[in-house]
Amino acid sequence: MNDLINGYIPIFAMAQCQVCGAPTPVDRFGCGKCRHCGWYQESHGIQDPDDVIYPNVVSYKKAKALVAQCLPLTPSFDDFIEGLKYYKEMEFEYGAIMYAVCFRRDGVYFSTYNGEALQLYATCADFKAHAHIDDKLLIDIWDNVQNADYM
Ligand SMILES: [Zn+2]
Repeated sequence: MNDLINGYIPIFAMAQCQVCGAPTPVDRFGCGKCRHCGWYQESHGIQDPDDVIYPNVVSYKKAKALVAQCLPLTPSFDDFIEGLKYYKEMEFEYGAIMYAVCFRRDGVYFSTYNGEALQLYATCADFKAHAHIDDKLLIDIWDNVQNADYM
């Protein structure tokens, strides 16, 4: 029982990954990250297969499709925005700079990680259409973004 999940959660049992089927260590609540595909097991089973929900950044159906193509569970820009609606705070890295996106009641705040405000948008749709870094639309450079995740 000295093995750890994510560095701090003791392994309780091995389970079959919900996405790729590989043996996956889980804690006593059934939570754990698959070492093969990266899917965080949903301890109560897959309840919202079309939605990006905690603790993953792609939906279950998207994860299944990516794994079937031997692709990593990397969120598309649309997945990122779905995650933003769910988690309210997301982050990503571009050009060795970390960026933060926060979804608040009064809009979507887009800034660098150190708090330098870049842009404010009224809605997620506005953010998707107009968010930019320098003169490049975020939607156009998304393939070069790394480490997109919730905060
Ligand atoms: Zn897996």
